[in-house]
Amino acid sequence: MNNEFDVNATPQFDAMIGAVNQKHTEDEAAIRDERFIYFKTGNSYRVRLCWPIDPFNRRQSPWIFRVIHEDRGAGRTNTEITCPTSDYLMGRRGFRACKACECSGNFYNDSKTSKVSEELYNHFRRQYRYVAMVYVVSDSLTPKNNGKFMLMRVPKGVADYLNRRVFGWATKSGELPLPLDRVIGKSAFLTDNGYDLNIDVATEQTPSGTYNSYSAEFMPQPTSVPVTQADINRAALELKFDEDFYKTSTQEEIENFVKTAIMGLKMEYEINGVPTDFDPSKLDQGNVNAANPNVSSSAAVPPVMGGTDTPSAAAVSAPQSAPATSATVSSSSAVPPKGKTELDSVLEELGFKNK
Ligand SMILES: [Zn+2]
Repeated sequence: MNNEFDVNATPQFDAMIGAVNQKHTEDEAAIRDERFIYFKTGNSYRVRLCWPIDPFNRRQSPWIFRVIHEDRGAGRTNTEITCPTSDYLMGRRGFRACKACECSGNFYNDSKTSKVSEELYNHFRRQYRYVAMVYVVSDSLTPKNNGKFMLMRVPKGVADYLNRRVFGWATKSGELPLPLDRVIGKSAFLTDNGYDLNIDVATEQTPSGTYNSYSAEFMPQPTSVPVTQADINRAALELKFDEDFYKTSTQEEIENFVKTAIMGLKMEYEINGVPTDFDPSKLDQGNVNAANPNVSSSAAVPPVMGGTDTPSAAAVSAPQSAPATSATVSSSSAVPPKGKTELDSVLEELGFKNK
């Protein structure tokens, strides 16, 4: 293995990330998990983002933006590791710590000339597993979800929008941080005077398949929702938000994954060749958004895994007008807050520096 490979420094990096975005799969299990909202094209979902306190005192962010490498399929190890590039771990710096990223970067570099490398790259590349907890204000597809706490998979483009609007972060290269008066800050989470997030789901046809495309936008007026921070914290425990989704992998686990899963499949492909019996139509079993012919190594992947984001899904619609957050934002930084909210206590406890 080339120890000098640095995925951050290669021009291929952006192309690789683009490919990852394009092939992002939404659902990690074939079994429907009742804790989750299932996005369906043509529908609108209005939610209040929740920031539950982490009972294990590890999570510093409201959501769990986790990136994994997985080895799933017939005859595979069915294991996964959390990539240290996950937002809550080391971000982009994590590439240097991740031997699986190093391998998939090498596979990517060789994928133009080697079918084996192409297949290995598709199998072991990073995949997003972004989860947030929300209070459902309205779900046009499933009204019985209204008024419930649920988990929500966050598509990459929506996640970028949230990081930018809530924290002001630059989410694309060359982008400047959002001006403070456009940052929505903690008002995204307030239960008594906060901003709902609206997500519209549409269908997008591309030459490589049919995809869900998401547009997310904070509502222009604040509202209140009939729950307290204590309700949110309790719901997070019941939904096992941290227990099931905040995961890390040790260096040893990452190295084991490389040795066993990655090197195992590499050897198998080199000896037996890449399987040719793959039938993309099998992925499309009754799921309009399942077509993802690019995932060519995934004959055994459950059909429900097909929901994907196209790069254009990252073009999350910019709000027509900024919610009136400037007063809220500046009042917490320039003027002493009038009354400490429950969320303030959570933020304080987390050591979160309030904007
Ligand atoms: Zn990695």
